[in-house]
Amino acid sequence: MNAPMQIPGGIDPVPVPRAAVPRADGRVDLIGLTRDQLRALLADAGLEPKQAKLRAKQLWHWIYNRGATGFTAMTDIAKTMHPWLEERFVIGRPEVVTAQVSTDGTRKWLLRSDDGQDYEMVFIPDADRGTLCVSSQVGCTLNCRFCHTGTMKLVRNLTAGEIVGQVMLARDALGEWPSQPEGRMLTNIVMMGMGEPLYNFDNVRDALTLVMDGDGLALSKRRITLSTSGVVPMMEKAGKEIGVNLAVSLHAVTKEIRDEIVPINRKYGIEDLLSACAAYPGANNARRITFEYVMLKDKNDSDEDARELVRLIRKYKLPAKVNLIPFNPWPGVPYECSTDERIQRFSDIIFKAGISAPVRQPRGRDIMAACGQLKSASEKISRAELDRRAEEKQAALG
Ligand code: SAH
Ligand code: SF4
Repeated sequence: MNAPMQIPGGIDPVPVPRAAVPRADGRVDLIGLTRDQLRALLADAGLEPKQAKLRAKQLWHWIYNRGATGFTAMTDIAKTMHPWLEERFVIGRPEVVTAQVSTDGTRKWLLRSDDGQDYEMVFIPDADRGTLCVSSQVGCTLNCRFCHTGTMKLVRNLTAGEIVGQVMLARDALGEWPSQPEGRMLTNIVMMGMGEPLYNFDNVRDALTLVMDGDGLALSKRRITLSTSGVVPMMEKAGKEIGVNLAVSLHAVTKEIRDEIVPINRKYGIEDLLSACAAYPGANNARRITFEYVMLKDKNDSDEDARELVRLIRKYKLPAKVNLIPFNPWPGVPYECSTDERIQRFSDIIFKAGISAPVRQPRGRDIMAACGQLKSASEKISRAELDRRAEEKQAALG
């Protein structure tokens, strides 16, 4: 049994078993290794240092630039070496359990890891771009009350290989190998699938570093957005070590309401969160922080809420834009989406204050692929059960 993983903040009701188990056949999956790790692995397996360096470079190119999934295609590596590589290594992809297509063109994949964990990935095509929504964890420990993923019992963090593997699989599906700078369908990545990316910091950082590498997948950090529910102590580190665009799931402007709907707020309050946003490295008027705000009827959608949002953004002098997300329902949820008129009015108030506040068009609702609807069927745990466990824990803490 693995030791529970330490989670920053430590408010999580569910312990998280650590990493994935090794493959049953004992081979090592090369996806997700840094260049140095790849070189070290080859050296450990017996190659001379110079050889290891050369082969690591070649493998890297074949894997991340050409999308190779086997060694036989690698024409610049001697044929005699192919069986040696095959015996020891694989170039894996997540297993696809199901692939669905929405009437609006959105695609959703249910993926399965080698050790049988299920997670989801969504591709959202638009006229001028294509956005891949990537998961960072199987489930999520945070239990935001309007989010379907939050009702799953978290099973584990995804590895760097499983995170970057989603991008590679999408490239396979879209036929976008070799990696090209122009004419791509997959142009943007958002870390907005299942899970809280800043609770799986190292793997998310390593995966995104691979995604941004100019010799490989080569997506610019300007086209990648990481969304956090507000893990304040990790935000500066994220800016420094990953450097992608930041989105923050704010969703409420008072302690009372945010405590209720985004429970991490009890640990890191709104003022701390906004201070961390103000200090986020690299945020400026050209690269604004996005504040996500889910529109919940009679909960967080009044004129007063909109005005308070403007006041807070001004108070902290944030280079901000607001993204209003119509609430996407799922079975058993206790909330409703605000009316279109209400959302429009809320947006107008913010726009009039000089802050951009577009309404996010829901995509893929018919296949449960929209924001907050992701949940893999293998994990069923009721809200009542979660509440019971949280209460139990609370009681145990006295
Ligand atoms: N865990 C991260 C990223 C994943 S969720 C985070 O919370 O930021 C991506 C966005 O969808 C978040 O802003 C999240 O709050 C929002 N969301 C969750 N459930 C939703 C729902 N049912 N309807 C609309 N948006 C939702
Ligand atoms: Fe987790 Fe984000 Fe869903 Fe909250 S909104 S439960 S942090 S995935």
